[in-house]
Parts: sequence; structure tokens; C-alpha cells
Amino acid sequence: MKKIAVIGAGIVGLATAYELRRHGLDVSVYDADAKPGQGTSKANGAQLSYSFVTPLATPDVLRSLHKLLLDRNGALRLHPTFSLSQCSWLLSFLKACSASQSQRGAENLLQLGKLSRQVLDQLQRTQPLEFAHNHHGKLQVFENSQSFAAARDAQGSFLGRHGVEQRVLTPAQTVEQEPSLAPIAHRIQGGLFTPSEEAGDCEQLCLALQERLQQMGVVFHFNTPITRLERHGDSITAFTAQGALDAHTIILANGTGAQKLARPLGLDLGIYPLRGYSLTIPVDEHSGAPQASVSDIRNKVVYARIGDKLRVAGMIDIGVNKPSAIAARLSTLRQQVQEFFPALTPTGDIEEWTGERPSRPTSTPLIGASPFNNLFVNVGHGALGFTLAFGSARLLTDILQSPSNKQPLLAPLFSL
Ligand SMILES: Cc1cc2nc3c(=O)[nH]c(=O)nc-3n(C[C@H](O)[C@H](O)[C@H](O)COP(=O)(O)OP(=O)(O)OC[C@H]3O[C@@H](n4cnc5c(N)ncnc54)[C@H](O)[C@@H]3O)c2cc1C
Repeated sequence: MKKIAVIGAGIVGLATAYELRRHGLDVSVYDADAKPGQGTSKANGAQLSYSFVTPLATPDVLRSLHKLLLDRNGALRLHPTFSLSQCSWLLSFLKACSASQSQRGAENLLQLGKLSRQVLDQLQRTQPLEFAHNHHGKLQVFENSQSFAAARDAQGSFLGRHGVEQRVLTPAQTVEQEPSLAPIAHRIQGGLFTPSEEAGDCEQLCLALQERLQQMGVVFHFNTPITRLERHGDSITAFTAQGALDAHTIILANGTGAQKLARPLGLDLGIYPLRGYSLTIPVDEHSGAPQASVSDIRNKVVYARIGDKLRVAGMIDIGVNKPSAIAARLSTLRQQVQEFFPALTPTGDIEEWTGERPSRPTSTPLIGASPFNNLFVNVGHGALGFTLAFGSARLLTDILQSPSNKQPLLAPLFSL
């Protein structure tokens, strides 16, 4: 049997290995880290956000560019580094801000989200994995009546067209839906509740998947960075410090690391790291923590309950890398939590985390073949890698196994 090497043991690489192995293929996984899920998959926002897939690049973002450059505490922040990679990514991002491109991106991502939900549901029905998976829905909370009305109309028409149920709530109904919001009831202008949304602990899922995959016969190589890809005619060989990998097919699923590996082959995957932040707050039933996933729309901060933890995540920073700037952003996030859930009482120490989303200008991942006959990609999932991992894995497996004249319908939407 031909050997397949998956590079990357984050949620995307592991889901890919799972789908390939389920189809009877011989799979090994390589990761630079000592265990799975230690990259961007570690402490993300925990949302399986199947219906909230609007790309980052929208006409609205374009209109608020001045704020982006000036507001030090804004949800989106740009620190210009004047590097070629940042400049070219930003130019492509600005181009992607058109209404038509952003609408097309949302439609495509919604289809991939639907497939992802199906694949993960199937796994959970047959041989469930423990990752604090819950189906408590998502509640968006608005403190501004104009932004509430705009979101209600825009989301109502988009989600309605795609058959996703969303309930429009008065301020009182919003608090009834999520009683932990009572201390800020006087500020709430309305809520939008989407019952079908889910949440879970992405790192825990990565660890559980590794165990399952080992039982299925997948071989893991940790502490094994892939140092380069070398071209031999139309095919590629991957190298570690120890030498060439013994693999017929190579799948790049290594998040932000993919750009650097692919570049020397003349492949620009368009991935740039967009920094985000999270807090993990230990809670119990007396802590005043929400049960549903809650989005604080004013600050663009998301809250998800994962077992006895409350995960809080937010902010998108472009080019922010200084430790002092990172510490300042985490402190702002703590402040935002205090203002939104003033009565929240943690049961222990709060863990801070920062991670980089492997983001493409259009927010759509690349899934499928490359110009080289044995190199495939499953990369660039940006802010939605947890949500989209299983659909992306299924799509890549279908692409790999189908003859070139019978590719899956979704394949052209995410091709290189
Ligand atoms: C603050 C924040 C909040 C988020 N919230 C959500 C959310 O609520 N819902 C959601 O769906 N998504 C969310 N995301 C996005 C999501 O976390 C990412 O899209 C996802 O984790 C990407 O997974 P990945 O497997 O592609 O990358 P990673 O998890 O980063 O995995 C890549 C792996 O490849 C390895 N690697 C890299 N280079 C090499 C190499 N050369 N050789 C060997 N190994 C290598 C790394 O060690 C790593 O283990 C959030 C992201 C952030 C930052």
C-alpha cells in the first residue's frame, strides 16, 4: 500500500489522518511538537461555528480601516511591519473585501461547515470521543440597537436562505435564555439565538483523536520537524533532520508552518499568521458562567463553556509580536470579561494564551492537489479550523481517491 505522510498534528492534520485511515490508507503523522494540538488548535475559542462563517474581509472592514489603524484596544489591529509577506497579504485582503467575494466566500464556507458537522456527528454517533462537546447553541448579545437591527436583518436573510433557525430575542428574552447575563441586563438591546451551534475543547479532541488513530494503526512521529520539501521532476520528497521521509504521498496540514515549507517550491499558499488571544477560566455551577456560547458583539469576544472551564477568545492582530504588546492585549481581554460578566467568580487561576490563525486573505482554506503529483494541501483555515476540520478532511480524502475526471463537487471551491 502507498504510504501517506500527513505533516501537522493539529486538528486539521488529525482529522485528515482519521478520514484517510478510515478509508483504509497507510498513514503516518509528523509533528515538530512533542504532542498533538499544541499549535493554534490548543486554546482557541472552542466554537463549532457551523453557521457563522462570514470571511474576515468584508466591505464593512474596508469602511472601518481608519479605526483598525488607530484604535489600540479595537478587536482588529494592524501593526505594519512593511515586510513583503505582510504587504502582499494585505493587498490581497483588501481586494477580497468586495461584497460579491465576501458573499461567495460565506456561501462556500457554509457548505464546508455543513459537511464538517455531518462528518463529526457521524464519528460521535458511532464511536464518540470525549472533548466536552455540547449543543447549547450560540447567543449573540447586542448593546447597540443599530448594530442589533443590522445583524438581525443580514443574518436573518442569509441563515434563513440556508435553513438555519435563528431566534430574535428582546432584552428580557436574552437574559431568560442566558441568566448569567442578568448583571448587564440594563445594557442589552437584543439578542440572536442560534440553537444549532456547538462547542467543545479542541485540544482535548486532538489528544483523543491521537489515541484513536494509534488504535487504528496510524503511526505518529513527534519532535520531528519537516525541514524542507525538495522537488524531483513532478514529485516532492519531504526531509527531516534525519533524512528523506519514506512516503509516496505528502499532505501539508501544518497550519501557519505550511507557507514556509511550500515557498521554496514556488508555491504561495497565501497564509499569514493573524494573532488572537484566549483566557481559560475554571468555573463551577456557582460561578455565574454562561451555559450557551455567548458572543459579546460590542467587543467581538466569544465565550464557550467546555465542561468546568469557560473559554474566552477574541481579537485579530496583524503583525503584533512584541511580548509587551501581547501582554497588553491579554490584559484588555481580562478587562472585557470583567465588564461583560461582572459577577463571574472563577474557581481557580485563569490561563492566558495567544495563538496565530493560519489565515488566507479570503478566509477560505486550500484543500486538494498541488502542481506536484504527490503533494496535497489542507491548510489556511484561519479563524474556523476547529469548525471546518472534519469536512476539509473528508473533502481531501475524496479528492485523493477520485479519478481526476470525477472530483467531488466542492473541490473547485477550495482548490489552489
Ligand atoms: C484566538 C483564537 C480563537 C479561535 N477560535 C476558533 C473557534 O472558536 N472555532 C474555530 O473553528 N476555530 C477557531 N480558531 C482557529 C483554529 O484554532 C485554527 O484554524 C486551527 O487550530 C488550525 O488548525 P491546524 O491544524 O491547521 O493548525 P495547528 O493547530 O497550528 O497545527 C499545525 C501543526 O503543525 C505542526 N507543524 C508546523 N510546521 C511543521 C513542520 N515544518 N514540521 C512538522 N510539524 C509542523 C505544528 O507543531 C502544529 O502542531 C481560533 C484561533 C485563535 C487564534
